[in-house]
Amino acid sequence: MRAIGRRIHTNRAVKEILLQSPVFQMAAKQFDEVADFLDLDDRLRERCKWPKRLITVTVPIRMDDGRTEIFFGHRVQHHLTRGAIKGGLRYHPSVDLGEITALALWMTWKCALLNLPFGGGKGGINCDPRTMSQGELERLTRRFTMEMIPFIGPEVDVMAPDMGTNEQTMAWMTDTYSTHSGHLVPSIVTGKPLNLQGSCGRTRATGHGVAFTASNSLHKRGYKVQGAKAIVQGFGNVGSHTAYTLDSYDALVIGVSDVGGAIWNDKGLPMDKLRKHVQKHGTILGFKESEPVDPQEILTRECDILAPCAIDRTITGENAPHLKCKVLAEGANGPTTPEADRIINERGDIFVIPDILCNAGGVTVSYFEWVQNLQHYSWTEREVLGKMEAMLQSAQARVTGFAKKNKLPQRSAAQAIAIETVAEAKSSRGLFP
Ligand code: GLU
Repeated sequence: MRAIGRRIHTNRAVKEILLQSPVFQMAAKQFDEVADFLDLDDRLRERCKWPKRLITVTVPIRMDDGRTEIFFGHRVQHHLTRGAIKGGLRYHPSVDLGEITALALWMTWKCALLNLPFGGGKGGINCDPRTMSQGELERLTRRFTMEMIPFIGPEVDVMAPDMGTNEQTMAWMTDTYSTHSGHLVPSIVTGKPLNLQGSCGRTRATGHGVAFTASNSLHKRGYKVQGAKAIVQGFGNVGSHTAYTLDSYDALVIGVSDVGGAIWNDKGLPMDKLRKHVQKHGTILGFKESEPVDPQEILTRECDILAPCAIDRTITGENAPHLKCKVLAEGANGPTTPEADRIINERGDIFVIPDILCNAGGVTVSYFEWVQNLQHYSWTEREVLGKMEAMLQSAQARVTGFAKKNKLPQRSAAQAIAIETVAEAKSSRGLFP
């Protein structure tokens, strides 16, 4: 204990940087509460909490106007105990080391909850991809991948898309890593395009899983998904596929928002038409069969499913008392603050599907993609989505069972199962040397 105490002490500067981040504070608070519940011994507690490696690199690239700009990129490898690091890479102006570390912890728990043979990590580059050209984004991605080469590999660390990144980003990463290796290495990242050995079903997987777990939860509570009213915050990859899948279940998606605003239709937004509108205009705004509404205000309108699928900390102490949903389906990572959690738990009338379960369809299909790449074999979309649904369903049953048995909120139950899984693996492996 003393040795660990000293090491942490000498790392005070890093700890302080992390603890200054509100997002990390949130993950750390969640961890501390669950570790207390599990009565984790002090040594294991520290090992399970702090990341194994925090890598920060500067990424200099030439901008289109001839300037050289330096971007800061991070990769936090939270733990490798149960397998290769797994987790996305995001491009967003809010990216900093604290936020990425919190997201890395959540990836660890997500992979452990789903029993995937992975550790957890997250990466990010502080930039605004919406203001950058394709050429600039390509140079940024390739240079960051080069900087990461000593730290990644198909058995070491496998990245995937996240906010602000997509299939194209993964294609550039695959090409950069493969060029360096002298042969195609598809298993270096997941979320690749199909023509580079991506997996069928990966693009829609996260949203599909959100809709699937939400529909299961309604069903378990005695309601039907057919005709259920849903509000989806965020219309990027996760939000849009959540809405499309809910629509395929005959739910009515009555409200959606994106970064520019929100739209509403009491009778349900026609998803086929909205999909075409977004493809053409790049936004939900201006969609004919809808009225514009306030994106904050729709969060508190009456509905069966509220799915926050945008950034972290959108369900707060302020709006939590006014939510009027039956099920809160967390498509985003960390959408609910601890203060909001406390209010929702006290209210007791909202069923929360915590992020590490609700949005785990994405990393589950990433796992399938990695397996297919290692086997040089590919599965059909039906096989992929069927296996994903089976895994989500069994994780969901474990979480609700654990919550009931231990009288815990759904989030704490999910995190407790995950943290215990990691702690047990660490205990079995012991300390080296
Ligand atoms: N970025 C996604 C997440 O937060 C997917 C990660 C992955 O597929 O590795 O779960």
